[in-house]
Amino acid sequence: MSERTIALVTGANKGIGYEIAAGMGALGWSVGVGARDTQRRGAAVERLRAAGADAFGVPLDVTDDASVTAAAQLIEDRAGRLDVLVNNAAVTGGMPQEPTRVDPATIRTVVETNVIGVIRVTNAMLPLLRRSASPRIVNMSSGVGSLTRQSRGGGEQAVGPVSAAYAPSKTFLNAVTLQYARDLSGTDILINAGCPGYVATDLNGFSGVRTPEQGAAIALRLATLPDGGPTGQFFEDAGVVPW
Ligand code: NAP
Repeated sequence: MSERTIALVTGANKGIGYEIAAGMGALGWSVGVGARDTQRRGAAVERLRAAGADAFGVPLDVTDDASVTAAAQLIEDRAGRLDVLVNNAAVTGGMPQEPTRVDPATIRTVVETNVIGVIRVTNAMLPLLRRSASPRIVNMSSGVGSLTRQSRGGGEQAVGPVSAAYAPSKTFLNAVTLQYARDLSGTDILINAGCPGYVATDLNGFSGVRTPEQGAAIALRLATLPDGGPTGQFFEDAGVVPW
């Protein structure tokens, strides 16, 4: 088996996911670029390799059972185990999406990708993660999923636009992260949620104020937690994010 750390990042063809993969490449890891589009995946792998990363393409649509099963098989055949999984792929469903006017189909799409997709990928990869000496799972969440930040008044403002699908999907993801940590207690697997901050990417029409590289930092930190580190928690660069 390879001595290199083996990682998989979902939605790694662009934005924050790409920079997470680049950061892992710089650490000398072997990184699977999970992406659903053949061309975008190939271009990202090529760019990462040109920068010196040991990157390989993993065809992956997180909403598709067969695709996820095939991705796990690809990693099994290539490495025989997985050390780090970053569940980064997500969609917003488009804005505006106020609860009073939202199309239920939007909620289904967003939850299918941002929550069920994470569960689908995580469970498919768990047998491979269990073979790692120090398995880590990072779920890319968002501060908009924090009910504390959504409901705060006074001098502070609630974060993000009113949202029936995207923000609640991240609240759901946070809750699921905590339940995984409970289920996996007693194993070496650490699973945490990370918030990248407000990052300029396609997701928000490049309105964010941070760079994708800055957004990737929290994922890299949670991917490199020492054994016995925190699990079932929600972090941003500055520390713990309130649920
Ligand atoms: P992005 O640039 O839009 O990238 C999203 C990635 O997810 C793309 O690679 C996209 O692939 C992929 N994806 C979407 N649906 C997929 C599916 N069904 N299967 C596989 N891949 C899929 O967004 P980003 O800003 O980098 O976001 C990365 C993560 O950070 C997300 O979890 C997001 O919620 C979170 N986040 C972002 C911000 C921010 O300010 N940007 C803030 C808080 C949290 P395609 O290219 O094929 O569409």
